[in-house]
Amino acid sequence: MSQYNNYIAELNDEGSILKIEIIKSWLLEHENYFKFLINETTCRKWSKWIKDKSIHLFPCACHTREGFCVFIQTYYELEKIMDLHRRQDEIAVVLKGFDRIKNNPDLEFEWVEKYSQIADFFEGKLQITGEEGKLINFMFDKDEFYTAILFEDIKMEIYCSEEYQIRSKSQENTLIFDEDELSYDDDNY
Ligand SMILES: [Zn+2]
Repeated sequence: MSQYNNYIAELNDEGSILKIEIIKSWLLEHENYFKFLINETTCRKWSKWIKDKSIHLFPCACHTREGFCVFIQTYYELEKIMDLHRRQDEIAVVLKGFDRIKNNPDLEFEWVEKYSQIADFFEGKLQITGEEGKLINFMFDKDEFYTAILFEDIKMEIYCSEEYQIRSKSQENTLIFDEDELSYDDDNY
């Protein structure tokens, strides 16, 4: 087994739940290897990303999913999940704000529009496509992500509510109307 596979296997005991402490020390231990592989991999998106972390990462473009890239992707996703874990205090503050406005649809919609981006979608699982398309599954301790998952639940509840559907429909209509006005202005040119 190659080294990167061994490292991933350290995390992925079949069916076991990954605790924060384990992820933290794994990331620390393999940080240099992660950077080393970014230089080695033929999947070039990573070297671009390391120079500018704000760029959008497209799905993997390697011809056959390359082992190096699988390791890098795993490391990258775990780091993002750790970041979410660290930001839960911040999310808790936003949730406190929600407690004050809940049951007022207008304010709820405002709230969800304003904060929907503060946390990535997370439901306690991660799936990585490995070599030859084999799937690697990671499971996390939902208690350790309690606040992040609660936030996601509330967000989804608002998005799926009937009132929200009606509202976003009427907003769409306004947008179409605005575009019409715009083209009307163009005609005047
Ligand atoms: Zn790749």
